[in-house]
Amino acid sequence: MAACPKCNGSGILQCHRCKGTGKVAKENSEAIVNMAPGANPEPVRCPSCHGVGTEPCSRCDGSGVVHC
Ligand SMILES: [Zn+2]
Ligand SMILES: [Zn+2]
Repeated sequence: MAACPKCNGSGILQCHRCKGTGKVAKENSEAIVNMAPGANPEPVRCPSCHGVGTEPCSRCDGSGVVHC
Protein backbone atom coordinates (compact mmCIF):
# COMPACT_ATOMS: atom_id res chain seq x y z
CA MET A 1 0.00 0.00 0.00
CA ALA A 2 1.17 3.52 -0.73
CA ALA A 3 -0.17 7.01 -0.25
CA CYS A 4 -2.38 7.95 -3.13
CA PRO A 5 -0.47 10.26 -5.48
CA LYS A 6 -3.61 11.96 -6.64
CA CYS A 7 -4.82 13.22 -3.27
CA ASN A 8 -1.51 12.93 -1.41
CA GLY A 9 -3.01 10.47 1.03
CA SER A 10 -5.81 12.74 2.18
CA GLY A 11 -8.51 10.77 0.41
CA ILE A 12 -10.32 13.91 -0.61
CA LEU A 13 -9.95 16.26 -3.50
CA GLN A 14 -11.14 19.77 -4.08
CA CYS A 15 -14.33 19.60 -6.03
CA HIS A 16 -13.50 20.14 -9.67
CA ARG A 17 -16.85 21.70 -10.36
CA CYS A 18 -17.05 24.41 -7.73
CA LYS A 19 -13.33 24.66 -7.00
CA GLY A 20 -13.94 23.95 -3.35
CA THR A 21 -16.48 26.69 -2.76
CA GLY A 22 -19.48 24.38 -2.61
CA LYS A 23 -21.43 26.72 -4.81
CA VAL A 24 -21.79 27.07 -8.53
CA ALA A 25 -23.47 29.64 -10.70
CA LYS A 26 -26.94 28.63 -11.73
CA GLU A 27 -26.76 26.73 -14.96
CA ASN A 28 -29.53 28.48 -16.76
CA SER A 29 -28.08 30.66 -19.45
CA GLU A 30 -31.50 31.77 -20.57
CA ALA A 31 -32.31 33.16 -17.15
CA ILE A 32 -28.97 34.91 -17.02
CA VAL A 33 -29.56 36.52 -20.40
CA ASN A 34 -32.96 37.75 -19.29
CA MET A 35 -31.69 39.19 -16.05
CA ALA A 36 -31.34 42.87 -15.42
CA PRO A 37 -27.90 44.28 -16.18
CA GLY A 38 -25.63 44.17 -13.18
CA ALA A 39 -27.56 41.39 -11.44
CA ASN A 40 -25.50 38.44 -10.40
CA PRO A 41 -26.74 34.94 -11.02
CA GLU A 42 -27.76 33.37 -7.77
CA PRO A 43 -25.28 30.69 -6.77
CA VAL A 44 -26.70 27.30 -6.04
CA ARG A 45 -25.32 24.42 -4.06
CA CYS A 46 -22.88 22.45 -6.12
CA PRO A 47 -24.61 19.31 -7.38
CA SER A 48 -21.32 17.50 -7.65
CA CYS A 49 -20.19 17.75 -4.02
CA HIS A 50 -23.54 18.78 -2.50
CA GLY A 51 -22.11 21.99 -1.11
CA VAL A 52 -19.22 20.37 0.72
CA GLY A 53 -16.51 21.65 -1.62
CA THR A 54 -14.63 18.39 -1.62
CA GLU A 55 -15.19 15.05 -3.20
CA PRO A 56 -13.76 11.62 -2.46
CA CYS A 57 -10.65 10.88 -4.46
CA SER A 58 -11.63 8.87 -7.49
CA ARG A 59 -8.34 7.03 -7.57
CA CYS A 60 -8.26 5.68 -4.02
CA ASP A 61 -11.99 5.91 -3.34
CA GLY A 62 -11.39 8.25 -0.42
CA SER A 63 -9.13 5.91 1.50
CA GLY A 64 -5.94 7.85 0.80
CA VAL A 65 -3.98 4.76 -0.07
CA VAL A 66 -3.58 2.78 -3.21
CA HIS A 67 -2.57 -0.80 -3.59
CA CYS A 68 0.65 -1.30 -5.40
ZN1 LIG B 1 -18.55 21.09 -5.73
ZN1 LIG C 1 -6.55 9.43 -3.60
